[in-house]
This record gives sequence, structure tokens and C-alpha cells, in this order.
Amino acid sequence: MKTQVLDEHQIDIAAAILKDGGVVGIPTETVYGLAADALNGEAVAKIFQAKGRPMDNPLIVHVAAFDDIERFRLVREIPDSAKLLAKAFWPGPLTMIMKRTDVIPSEVSAGLDTVAIRFPSHPVAQAVIRAADTPLAAPSANLSGSPSPTTARHVLNDMDGRIDAVLDGGASAVGVESTVITLATEVPCVLRPGGITVEELREVLGEVEVDDAVLHRLAEGAVAASPGMKYKHYAPKANVLLIKGSDEAYIDYVNAHAADDVCALCCDEDLLLLRTKTVSLGRRNDYLTHARHLFDCLRRIDENKTIRTVYSRLPSTEGVGLAVYNRLIRAAGFEVIDLETV
Ligand code: AMP
Ligand code: MG
Repeated sequence: MKTQVLDEHQIDIAAAILKDGGVVGIPTETVYGLAADALNGEAVAKIFQAKGRPMDNPLIVHVAAFDDIERFRLVREIPDSAKLLAKAFWPGPLTMIMKRTDVIPSEVSAGLDTVAIRFPSHPVAQAVIRAADTPLAAPSANLSGSPSPTTARHVLNDMDGRIDAVLDGGASAVGVESTVITLATEVPCVLRPGGITVEELREVLGEVEVDDAVLHRLAEGAVAASPGMKYKHYAPKANVLLIKGSDEAYIDYVNAHAADDVCALCCDEDLLLLRTKTVSLGRRNDYLTHARHLFDCLRRIDENKTIRTVYSRLPSTEGVGLAVYNRLIRAAGFEVIDLETV
């Protein structure tokens, strides 16, 4: 199967493929999604096949309006917390988990009694959901385990020949996946950090917990609240090592380990000080820009096939920094070199 590349004026073609049970890569403001009709289990199964995604990892259902949740009877009851959050952050990079109805095929919910729902802000994503006239199930459009795609070219690199089409809507503005919050527990709990910060969520809801798996390796035998959390994820082929320490200590450490197969994932301010290959996430404290560039940087490192080791600073856990931290700590398999204790 040849994958068609569509431009943003060809939404009707993408919608026709989706209505027909096909799979299309679509732009969203977070990352590119691999979309299929969320109410068609057979179509959704093709997403898992194309990605090589474990079947026990549920998908996010994308709608084009808050009212779509009721219109398609996706959930048993809409909690007040969902209304408040939608008012504050939808459309946008926030996914809410609620108790599902039987309208949701088991392929989407992966056997759970809940469903994750998001209303993206990207105009092309909204237009294609509306034109398909059905909610779209869409995980990130990468091969399972590799860095998420933030451009149509990234999608093609992973999915050419595996999906029907990709719709090009430019580079994703947020660059990391949506924040996932469950409203199916007594206290709302963040299962994955993303574009909407924990601080922002607390301003609207008051008490919000953060699942342990956001920051730490899941204990042996523990059940993940969000099944995606248990998989090694976001990793480039090179080995990522995270360094904890001052800016000077990071630079000294990397320079002491400089070699042809080493690359530093760094900030603009480091570029003149590092004596090795570099890929910059942006200016030092600009976490929004780091998030936007993260996956493209990891993919660029992979394109240079000689690189075996990537040194990065341990990111801040403040604001959107937490989303970058969460992705990089997984890419690094939770290994951190702590220069403060050696
Ligand atoms: P992706 O689709 O690649 O952005 O990943 C979606 C994330 O949301 C994964 O970590 C899933 O495990 C998680 N997720 C989706 N639906 C649910 C659900 N019903 N309950 C808990 N986590 C979910
Ligand atoms: Mg993903």
C-alpha cells in the first residue's frame, strides 16, 4: 500500500478514507496522530498493527466539540470537573478520562471501563473530525517506542506503506503529547504530563494528584494506571544518559567524554562551550520551546547513524518542563548520572 500525502486543502479525501475504515496520519497541536474511526473496532485495530502497539494500551478519542461527547454517547456521565476543565482548556492539549459506554469498541479502551477524550485545537484536526462526522481514535503516529512525530515527514519516515494517507498541516506547535488526567478516580489524577501544566489544572480543580509513574520507574509487578506508562518510550536508537548537576559540571562532564559517536542534547547557551556534536532544544529556561523541539531533536540524532551516546541535562520539573522530564527520563530508561553526589 502506498501512503498518499495530502495537503490541508484535501480534508475531504482524508475524511472519505476514515469513513471507509482506513487509517490517516493527522496533524494536531501536540504531535501527529494516527487516526481511525473510533466507533469502528476493525478500523481501530489497523492502528495497532501499523504502529506495532501492544493491544493493552488504550487510545485517545478525538472530538470536534465538547457536545460531541454527548452526541455520540461516549461516556456514562460527564462529571462537573470535566465541564470546568473543558471551559478552561478545550480545545487544547488536555485529555480527560471518564467512565465509558458500550459505544466505545474494546480495541479503543483496551479492556478498561474508561475512555480518554480530547478536543484538539489544531484547525486541520478539527476540520477532518467534522468532515468524517465521527470521533477519531488516534495515538501518536510513530512506530511504537520511537520518538513521537511532530511533522508529516516524521510520520512518513515511520509509516510509509503502512497507512493509507498522511495529512500535512505543518509542524506541531506544542510538540509533546497531551496532558492526560483521569476524572474516574475520587481525586483527579494526572497520568501523563503535557502541554497543560499541573499548576494550571490545580488552579481550576483545586486538588489534583500526580501519578507516581510520571516521575518514577514503575515498581516491579505494579499495575500502571495508564498502560502506556509501563513501556520504554520516546527513545532514539542511541543511548540517552541524563546528567544531574550544575551547568558547568554538565559541560565539563560532556567535554571529558567527547568522542565521534557522542552528541550533547543541550541549550543554545552551551553551543560555544561544548567540544562535541550538539543538538539544541532552545534557550536555557524556555521550556515551551524545549517541548516543541524535543522529538525533532531526538529524531535528528537518530538520522546521524554514527551517534551511540546522547548526554542531556536532567530537565526541570516546573511547568511544561515536567512533560520534557517525563519523556527524557523514559528515553533514558530512568538512568541518571548524578554529578552532585560523586
Ligand atoms: P498516545 O495515544 O500514544 O498519545 O498515548 C495515550 C496515552 O493515554 C497512553 O499512555 C495510554 O495508556 C493513555 N490512556 C488512553 N486511554 C486511557 C484510559 N482509558 N485510561 C488510562 N490511560 C489511558
Ligand atoms: Mg505515543
